Amino acid sequence: QQAIKDMLAQLGIQESNPAYTTGLTWGGENNAETKAIHSPTNGKVIASVNMATEENYNQVISTAQKAFVEWRKWPSPKRGEVVRQIGQKLRENKEALGKLVSYEMGKILQEGLGEVQEMIDICDFAVGLSRQLHGFTMHSERPTHRMYEQYHPLGVVGVISAFNFPVAVWSWNAMLAAVCGDVVVWKPSEKTPLTAVACQRIIQDVLKENNVPEGVFCLVVGDATIGSLMAHDRRVPIVSATGSTRMGKKVGEAVGARLGKSLLELGGNNAIILTENADLEMAMRAIVFGAVGTAGQRCTTTRRLIIHDSIYDEVRDKLLKIYPNLPIGDPLKDGILVGPLIDKDAVKAFENALAEVQKEGGKLLTGGKVLEGEEYATGTYVTPALVEAENHYHMVQEETFAPILYLIKYSGTVEDAIEIQNGVMQGLSSSIFSTNLLETETFLSHWGSDCGIANVNIGTSGAEIGGAFGGEKDTGGGRESGSDAWKFYMRRQTNTINFGRELPLAQGIKFDL
Ligand code: NAD
Repeated sequence: QQAIKDMLAQLGIQESNPAYTTGLTWGGENNAETKAIHSPTNGKVIASVNMATEENYNQVISTAQKAFVEWRKWPSPKRGEVVRQIGQKLRENKEALGKLVSYEMGKILQEGLGEVQEMIDICDFAVGLSRQLHGFTMHSERPTHRMYEQYHPLGVVGVISAFNFPVAVWSWNAMLAAVCGDVVVWKPSEKTPLTAVACQRIIQDVLKENNVPEGVFCLVVGDATIGSLMAHDRRVPIVSATGSTRMGKKVGEAVGARLGKSLLELGGNNAIILTENADLEMAMRAIVFGAVGTAGQRCTTTRRLIIHDSIYDEVRDKLLKIYPNLPIGDPLKDGILVGPLIDKDAVKAFENALAEVQKEGGKLLTGGKVLEGEEYATGTYVTPALVEAENHYHMVQEETFAPILYLIKYSGTVEDAIEIQNGVMQGLSSSIFSTNLLETETFLSHWGSDCGIANVNIGTSGAEIGGAFGGEKDTGGGRESGSDAWKFYMRRQTNTINFGRELPLAQGIKFDL
């Protein structure tokens, strides 16, 4: 408990925190609704936040708009320098913030620390990017003409984030947007607002010391009502929303109706294919990390295992040896691999999915219990479940945000396995374990995996920030983080310059006055 108190003190989290901040100064209406945030690890109240009102929200957006007018004029490498210093502050606070992620969200400390490392990595990436926001130059068909394109900042970027990656998703968006010259208004998940408050605290000295205009990095703590205001708000040209497909459809529709840009990062239903040529020793660790890590609450969690019938029994038996012995408990403790689910609603969804899939013919092989006893008094710790199932079952088609791994048998070729894998509505992450080049290349080919992420001989989780992250179909189509994802945060302009004394028209059109 003392370690937790020290961590909260280092991050500036007191029992009561203001509801919203516009960047440098802290605000908060005394009459705002207060929400106590409980840790899923032990049920204790960590701190309370004041939830923003519509008035608070409007105030933040107008502060952000004013900041944009100034921030967009800063040279991009100067903006990059601010991001570099933010990365440094995150390094200094990695241990404390990683702990808070673990305590507020429930993922094991190793993954909490990994999440903060991702934030540091994206800062480094964005610093380099600040000198590389380049467009193409083209040859004009007209003499003494030059053509090129450039990228300009767009304005206020609204970031709506989910509980399961409470801080990394913000940094993927915010650090790119910041070097691009945009300003960011962040609405974190109402389940994990304290890590967001901590991030704001961590960066505020950097912003002050560099005279960054107030409002470049804003935070509005609120629930779906505030998210919905943002989706409908014409002052917010880009909304980047991470969460369930249900939420993404609403946000996408509202942003689309006003012809804004939405970047959607939604649910996954990720599979690993194990062909008869899979190296099973290597595959096992990837499968278990992917299926039970973060207690099955990653968007990239391995939910389906598509196994060739020749190795099916062997794979099932190997998993049946591992699953009953998984260390489940307080995610801050050494040696624990599975922490709690976020809340009791998530536990209900887990139990419901298992009941439903069994009605459809699924066979529960192990797990599926809610743990009891002093260590598990919150009622949020469950034993990861293994279920024999078929791909067409209703529950297998859904993303249940909990540790359930469906074992699905296939016979025939790798193309049969790929067909099963692609036979769901979501299209986030996928992987194949095989040492056969013909199989792995088929999986990566244009008739292979239909997902945004397709891996060979590694699992579905654990992406690096250097690649663009996101998925197809019901996953929403957005791409964040590395590669050229930055382009989404900017507007593209094509420029044609005439440095002659004639005015020739394109396409040889004659228009003589
Ligand atoms: P959620 O959809 O319940 O909430 C996500 C965020 O959306 C929260 O901030 C919430 O307040 C807000 N929100 C909810 N309804 C809204 C509405 N109508 N308008 C505007 N905002 C609204 O999701 P969750 O339970 O926090 O997170 C789990 C989900 O997120 C899973 O489906 C998971 O796969 C997905 N996820 C996807 C990615 C990805 O990159 N593809 C990453 C992390 C999580």
